[in-house]
Amino acid sequence: MQKINLLGLTLEQLKLKFLEHGLCALDAKRVFPWIHTKLAFSFDIMSDVPLAVRKILKNNYTLARPKCSVLQKSSDGTQKALLEMEDGNSVESVFIPDARRTTVCISTQIGCAVGCKFCHSGTQRFIRNLSSSEIISQIFFWKAEKSITNIVFMGMGEPLLNFENLSNVLSLLLNKKAHNFSRHKITISTSGIIEKAITNLAKFGVKLAISLHASSDEKRSFLMPINNRYPIKMLLAAAEEYRKSSNTSCVTFEYLLLRDFNDTEIDALELARLLKSCNCKVNLIMYNNWPGAPFFGSDENRANEFSRTLLSHNIRTLLRKSKGIDILAACGQLKGKST
Ligand code: SAH
Ligand code: SF4
Repeated sequence: MQKINLLGLTLEQLKLKFLEHGLCALDAKRVFPWIHTKLAFSFDIMSDVPLAVRKILKNNYTLARPKCSVLQKSSDGTQKALLEMEDGNSVESVFIPDARRTTVCISTQIGCAVGCKFCHSGTQRFIRNLSSSEIISQIFFWKAEKSITNIVFMGMGEPLLNFENLSNVLSLLLNKKAHNFSRHKITISTSGIIEKAITNLAKFGVKLAISLHASSDEKRSFLMPINNRYPIKMLLAAAEEYRKSSNTSCVTFEYLLLRDFNDTEIDALELARLLKSCNCKVNLIMYNNWPGAPFFGSDENRANEFSRTLLSHNIRTLLRKSKGIDILAACGQLKGKST
């Protein structure tokens, strides 16, 4: 019989699972902090849990984390781990330190069904959702050695197409008696699965980033087929609704700078016009190349000009410098291995 991994279960789910094996709610209450605050690797060290209970735990459950098959370190301090799941599939997960914070970038799916033209993960066929244990185990992996201040769900996959498992993970990350992250330190990036964001994600109050990447539907649909279902007008309305219902200060739009495709002065002016009455921020992203990529990134001058144009139209803009490029650990460069 396959053992159940407990890492991704909320306290309520743990209690229910334990009942199935004749354990009680108090056992769950004792075990829960061992898992999430003491990051216990084994049931043996759970000193306040009776021995007989520990035996049942060992027979039925596991706290196993994925094995790291490759760990790459970039010259800028970024690290990328290829983490192997039990079924042999792997995902990549990234640790990004800078002067003020340490951020981990988490994957939610193996492959991605959305199929954006510019994205390395998108070229990999969708295999399956990661379970909540597999998602949060990436945090456990990095936490074992480092302290983490911020979490971004910008790794492989579309987080809002794996909402149930994401939701479990967010509950655990925000729970004061578990990982106790502030909602302001967690960002979910989506290609625009907006009804899920508004109806379900907003209650967590975490930050939302929407991958916009173009200011016309024609261009956005070319880059991201999902735009046919969720066109730009819908995204803008959803962003405003999310801001209100999640009580966050504003939504971020991510805009990938693709050379001669969406990075000209005219593109910048169009974007400024599109967003002028929108309470939002823009993160300009330098394109990270990968073998066989169909686009080139903008050069630095063009990117700076684009940023200046937006700023001069009072759009809050950040030109994000990518990290970990030399180890293909930057946004959109991740690609796991599937069996
Ligand atoms: N699926 C989600 C989250 C993962 S991708 C989403 O699409 O938002 C995280 C961010 O990386 C997105 O903004 C995505 O558009 C961007 N991205 C994808 N490929 C990239 C690349 N090659 N270079 C830079 N950013 C990329
Ligand atoms: Fe999927 Fe996001 Fe990549 Fe698009 S950019 S293919 S949604 S991971």
